[in-house]
Amino acid sequence: MDVALYEGETLNITVEISRYSNAEKERMIDKYRKAAEKKAMICPFCFEELRLRAGEINEIHFAHLKGKSCQGAEAYDTYHNQTKRESKKHSVIKEIIYNELKGQELIRSDLKVEYGYKEKAEEKWKHYPDIYLNKNGREFAVSVITNVHEIGDEKIVKIINKRNKYFKEKGLESIWFVEDRELADDYEHRVLHLWEAEYGLAIKTEEDYKWDKLLKELSEVFPGQNIPRLFGYRAHGTMNLDVRSLYYVHSIGDEITFSVYRLILDQMKSPFRGFTLTKGYQMNISQALIIRDEIQLSDKDQEEMNRLEFSNQVLVQIEALKAEAMLSREANELRYEQQAREEYFASTVQETIGEIAEPYMTVDIDVVEYVSKLKYLSLSHQEAKALFYYLKVHRGELEDYGLTLTEVKNAVRYALGKISEPKIREWLVEIEIL
Ligand SMILES: [Zn+2]
Repeated sequence: MDVALYEGETLNITVEISRYSNAEKERMIDKYRKAAEKKAMICPFCFEELRLRAGEINEIHFAHLKGKSCQGAEAYDTYHNQTKRESKKHSVIKEIIYNELKGQELIRSDLKVEYGYKEKAEEKWKHYPDIYLNKNGREFAVSVITNVHEIGDEKIVKIINKRNKYFKEKGLESIWFVEDRELADDYEHRVLHLWEAEYGLAIKTEEDYKWDKLLKELSEVFPGQNIPRLFGYRAHGTMNLDVRSLYYVHSIGDEITFSVYRLILDQMKSPFRGFTLTKGYQMNISQALIIRDEIQLSDKDQEEMNRLEFSNQVLVQIEALKAEAMLSREANELRYEQQAREEYFASTVQETIGEIAEPYMTVDIDVVEYVSKLKYLSLSHQEAKALFYYLKVHRGELEDYGLTLTEVKNAVRYALGKISEPKIREWLVEIEIL
């Protein structure tokens, strides 16, 4: 352990010795060693005397007398090792948060705030949260994480997952604050770019459940609409509409601010990313860390406003699609009128218009799979129809899937030569004349 009580104050021996030049170091170490032998160094946890050890192999440290064990010091060392990878900002941020929460403890009888390693020293935990919080029996593990970028390797992902799992097993809910120099948001594209590790840092709070409810309502009002897709977000695959939040903390000197991002995590594959529901917004510490049933971590009015704005944005997108559909319907009607004039397929016009006049479909299909079904002649009538609507809207995106419209049309022509089912042929013809 690198700390001891010396003359009534905490002395961190590593920090203390680093202040001196190499030439002076030996002399200072000797001075403190002698002081320790004269019982001047006390353990801040068990208040027993400590000795100073400074060998060739071990770093300089304080130790209890032989045969003495000290849970407090053991927990301190475990925690100290755990936080070695963090940046210098880590302890500054942690202390500010601790002091703010500790201040609320004074005025709330059902709140307990303590450093994780102190609270759980007796239980000898393998990992400690920076701060332990107990609100009316509900326990939280509050952790600050920095240097998330170091991660290119999977080490930190494992660390975070391990701690999340461990705290959960111990009955604690995890709250993470991420140093904000890792923040990479692009609201215009509604995307938050993430490190793989940030998946494990996204948490679920009261406000996120309210967002879940809103998304559920929107999906019921507009069935079949893929909400992220409406905003032009291109998901890796199917996304569960499970809203989570990420909390970034920004520190300048001894001041910190928080910003909150609500997002739906995309599938966990590279490039790691999520669909953002809102632009992040900033909060000062007293706003963010108010404790009610849990740490508030949000501005309720701002959240209400954001949800309203989001609903409006969804409506606008859907109106735009309808307008687009109207235009294409008119174009179709014109085309069919022309065909009618030519008395071509005259008897089927009414029926076909009926189909096309259905509410516009925003189809989200696996186009590669559909095209291969087409090649194997196993495409159903519904799938042929969906493919037509998909191509109508998204044909510009085919190359993203390694396809071209010509290639699709060639497959259609091939299928037209083989498939006799009129309902399928009808949609294949539509695709061919796109
Ligand atoms: Zn001790």
